[in-house]
Amino acid sequence: MKKLATYYVFNTAKTPLTKVNKPIPSLKDGEILVNIRYTTLCGSDLHTYCGLRHEPCPTILGHEIVGTIAEITPAHSGLDAQGNRLQVGDLITWTVFSSDPNTLSYQPEIPQKNDNLYKYGHRQVTEKDNLHGGLATHIILRPHTCIRVLPHTISLGVAATINCAVATSAGALRLAGTISGKNVHVTGIGLLGLVTIAMCKELGATTIIASDINPARLAMAKQFGATHTVNLGETENNSLIHELHIDRFIDMSGSPDAMELGIETLDLHGRAVLVGAVFNQRKTGIDAEKVIRKMLTIQGLHNYNYTDFSTAVDFIVDHWQQYPFTTLIEREFPLAEVNAAIDYALTHKPIRAGVYMDHSTTSR
Ligand SMILES: [Zn+2]
Repeated sequence: MKKLATYYVFNTAKTPLTKVNKPIPSLKDGEILVNIRYTTLCGSDLHTYCGLRHEPCPTILGHEIVGTIAEITPAHSGLDAQGNRLQVGDLITWTVFSSDPNTLSYQPEIPQKNDNLYKYGHRQVTEKDNLHGGLATHIILRPHTCIRVLPHTISLGVAATINCAVATSAGALRLAGTISGKNVHVTGIGLLGLVTIAMCKELGATTIIASDINPARLAMAKQFGATHTVNLGETENNSLIHELHIDRFIDMSGSPDAMELGIETLDLHGRAVLVGAVFNQRKTGIDAEKVIRKMLTIQGLHNYNYTDFSTAVDFIVDHWQQYPFTTLIEREFPLAEVNAAIDYALTHKPIRAGVYMDHSTTSR
């Protein structure tokens, strides 16, 4: 008899997820079956749940996932991105997408923008295509998914965030260019903002200004290495941003007001990287003459590439205990209580709520 997987299906906005038990399908060539150990609820999962984003439904939400290998098909290379041999039982993280390099539109620097991307946690559940989201006991990794083995000692909750928030932050800093010796302004202090601040600290930024409208988030930013904080809700506190020569501006907030201020206050040859504005809102105003005379660079980033993913894994493996990352998973729930986890996340707006899976009764 085939083993069962359990997953929780999202059908329509603001409606509890429904539980489904299904036999685990036979794997196709090149696939890997993973026992999911932990999934964190990302902001985009919550946006979809609330109806602010639209996914093809029914779907299995959750893409910030870690798990252990249950089965590897012989057609898989059997190697992770660093050439380590993958074994059943290994704890792994993987890119949020599988991107086929044989596709005509494939560009190695932006594999995440390839046509026909297979994106975990964003797909319709069908009879033939399921087990692709994080709020489940199992997931099937498709060919062309970049995988990294993690140490078993790592916090599962922190590890789950690597393949979305941490990798995207790594991408933002790759695009921002040199950070060492620079004055950096990071706005929007959610998980991406906090990770970016910690990365800037490790990269040797001279000054790291964190800005947000939430004082509690600004206090967190200090714990992750911010040298200064600015409450954007109190305009009289903005002077620091205007006085300092800011070389790098990274926006994780998506707020047009914050982006306008950040770009406006960049110094000569400054660089802005915009990451947060992935929702519908008013247009952001830019003074083209200033952009020209100050020779600014403004770059957008959506998701991340393989280099960013690798940087993210290395950063978390090396530094997850050095900064209070574990405190960012403010509460965790067993998979059976996933609807309570979503309610908690929407009501209390933690940096992350976690969902863990108990495989103690599972044989594979
Ligand atoms: Zn995400």
